[in-house]
Amino acid sequence: MRKLCVVLAMAFLVSCGSGYEDGVIDTSRLDGAASETQNWLTYGGTYEEQRYSGLEEINAETASSLGLEWSHEFDTARGLEATPLVADGVIYTTTAWSKVHALDATTGKLLWKYDPKVPGETGFKACCDVVNRGAAIYNGKIYSGTLDGRLIALDAKTGKLVWSVVTVDQSKPYTITGAPRIVKGRVLIGNGGGEYGVRGYVSAYDAETGKQAWRFYTVPPAKGAKPDGAASDDIIAKMQGTWDGDYTKFGGGGTVWDAIVYDKDFNQVLIGVGNGSPWDHRVRSNGKGDNLFLSSVVALDADTGKYKWHYQGTPAETWDFTQTQPIILASLKIGGADRKVMMQAPKNGFFYVIDRSNGKLVSAKNFVPQNWTSGVDMKTGRPIEMPGARYENGPFVANPSGHGAHNWQPMAFSPKTNLVYIPAQEVPMAYQSDAPFVGREGGWNLGVNLAINTLPDDEAGLKAIRAILKGVLIAWDPIKQKEMWRVDHGGPWNGGVLATAGGLVFQGNAKGEFNAFNATSGKKLWSFDSKIGIVAPPVSYSVNGKQYVAVMVGYGGGYGVASPFTENMGPRPNGRLLVFAIGGKAPYKVERMDPGPAVVVKDKWSTATVAKGAQIFETTCSVCHGGTARSSGVLPDLRRSPVLADQKLWQEVVHDGILKDNGMVGFSKWLSREDVEATRAYVAGRAKVLATKGI
Ligand code: CA
Repeated sequence: MRKLCVVLAMAFLVSCGSGYEDGVIDTSRLDGAASETQNWLTYGGTYEEQRYSGLEEINAETASSLGLEWSHEFDTARGLEATPLVADGVIYTTTAWSKVHALDATTGKLLWKYDPKVPGETGFKACCDVVNRGAAIYNGKIYSGTLDGRLIALDAKTGKLVWSVVTVDQSKPYTITGAPRIVKGRVLIGNGGGEYGVRGYVSAYDAETGKQAWRFYTVPPAKGAKPDGAASDDIIAKMQGTWDGDYTKFGGGGTVWDAIVYDKDFNQVLIGVGNGSPWDHRVRSNGKGDNLFLSSVVALDADTGKYKWHYQGTPAETWDFTQTQPIILASLKIGGADRKVMMQAPKNGFFYVIDRSNGKLVSAKNFVPQNWTSGVDMKTGRPIEMPGARYENGPFVANPSGHGAHNWQPMAFSPKTNLVYIPAQEVPMAYQSDAPFVGREGGWNLGVNLAINTLPDDEAGLKAIRAILKGVLIAWDPIKQKEMWRVDHGGPWNGGVLATAGGLVFQGNAKGEFNAFNATSGKKLWSFDSKIGIVAPPVSYSVNGKQYVAVMVGYGGGYGVASPFTENMGPRPNGRLLVFAIGGKAPYKVERMDPGPAVVVKDKWSTATVAKGAQIFETTCSVCHGGTARSSGVLPDLRRSPVLADQKLWQEVVHDGILKDNGMVGFSKWLSREDVEATRAYVAGRAKVLATKGI
C-alpha cells in the first residue's frame, strides 16, 4: 500500500503525509521498524527486540520536565504486563483476561475495545495470573492470544473479529499469556501450562486466514507413539533418547510461553522453551537424560518450522528454570570481529551470549549470585552442578529459584551504550522432593513440596526473610560479561525496561514508581509515583514530532500474586495506561482501599485438622492467595474475607465453585468437604495471627 501511495503521489501530486495514512503495517514496514522511530510496531520494538527507541527529545537534559500527558483507567485490578504497540497515532494494548484496546495515542480516547469473553474458570489454569503480554499488528489486523488458548485476528480500525482459531486442546490446562509475533505473513504463538502438565509447542498460522502452517513440539510424544505429523517429527526421533520412563504422563512441559524472535539474518525463529512438567526430573524422567528441548533456546527455519540448532542452559531441568525469557538480537564486536549474537538472561541466573549462525555459546556469566552450579564449562557449554542442588540429599534452598533471576519482564539493549539493562532479582526458594508423587488432574503437578517455604509468625523472622529478597536494575556489559552499574529497588518483581537514544533507561517498580535513569551512569533523573505497582515494560513513540513514553501500571503476575512480600500490599485500584511527555500536566488521582480487619472465627478445630489444612493450603491455595494466607492484595486476602466466618459459604465457594466466573473454581474434584473445612481451620488461624500480631 505504501508503494501504491508513493506512485500515486508522484503521478498526481497526492499528499501522502507520512505515506502511512492507510495505517497498514506490511512486511517491509515490520522489517524496517527501526527507521519508524515514531512507532512501536512489534512486541520488542523491532524484530531484534532490543526495546530501544531511536527518539531523543526526552533525554538527560529534558527528563526532569516530564509529566503525565494522559491516562486511561481499565476495568481490572489484575496484573497488566502488556507492551503497547503504537502505529500511526494509535495505541493497541491488552489487559487481564485477554482484552484488547485501541486508543488515540495523543489524547488517550478509547477507539475500540474487544473482550474475547474468556470463561472465568480459565483463571484456575493460569499459573501466574490472568495476564496478557501484548498483541501483534499486521496488514490491517491486530492479533492476540487469549487465556483459554485462542488466537484471534481483529480489524485494526474497528476492533471487529476477523477470525479466531483454537490453538490448544482446551480440555487440557493450556493457557496463552504471551504476545504473538508476525513472521513472513504468518502469526506465531506458543502457550503455557508447564506447572499443570502439558506438552509445549509453537505454531504458525496464516495471518489472513488463520490456517495452520506448521507446528513444532518441544518435547517428544510417548515412546512408540506415531509421529505428530509436525515440523518437529525428524528432530524428535533423534532427541527422544534424552527422555526416560513415562514422561508423557504430565505432558513433559517445555511450553513456549514468551520469547519467539524472528532472526532475519539467518531466516530463523528463536524460541525460548520452558521448564519440565513435573518439575522434579526424577518424577518426570526417572532422573535420566537431558530432556531436550526443555530449558533451551531452539532455532527453527522461519519458513518450515524445522529444527536448525539449540542451546540448552539447564540440562535435566528440575527447578522450574525456564529458558523462555526475552531474547535480544544484536551484532557485537567480540575479539575484534562482528558477531551476530543473541542475548538472554533466563531464570537460572546466567547471561548467555550465543552465536546465532550455529547456536554455539560465546560466553556465559552469572548476573546475580547463584548456588546451583560452580559455573559453565565453556568446552561443553554445560553448567557444572553443585552436589545437593537437585535436592537429592534433602531440601535445597536454591538461589535463583523458579521465580527467576530474571523472569518475563523484558530487558533492553542500547546500541549507543552497548549495555543490556536487566530487571534482575534474588528470590531464593526451598525445594523438597514430593515423593511419593501423586498427580492431580488439572492442578499443579510439580513433584516438589513447596510447603516447606511456609513463613514464620514473628516479626523478626519475616523481616529476616524479606531482607534476603532483592530487586535490582542491572546495566550489564555483554562483551565483558560484567556489571557496570545497578539500581536497588528494594524488593523483587519490578517492571520491564526501555532504553532510548536520548541516553535514558525507563523502568517502573513494584512500589509503583516510574523512573528515568541515565543510561551510562544509572543516576535517577526523574520519577513519577503511580501508587500502583508496575511490572510492564514501557515504550516510546511520537506523534507530530512530540515524544511520548507509555507504560501499563497494574501489579500481578506469578510472584506478584503469590508473594506476601510485595512492595505495594493491599487491595488494588484498577490498572491504567500512563502516557508521559515533556511538560505534561494531566491530573492523576488513585485511591487505595482499606484492606479491612482480620475476621475472627469462633469455631474450634483439632491440631491435626489445622495441620492438614496447612498442607493443603500451602500446596494448592497459596499460589494465588499468598503463602501463609498473606495475600499481596491482587487476589482476596482470605484472612479478611467475611466468607471465612461462614462454614456453609466457605464450602459453596471453595468446594462447589459459586465464584467460578471470577476465576475461583470449585475444588470438589480434588478436595473433600473435610479437606475444605481444614483449609478454613488453617486460614482462621492465620486470621487470628493477623488480628493479634498484625502480621
Ligand atoms: Ca514454570
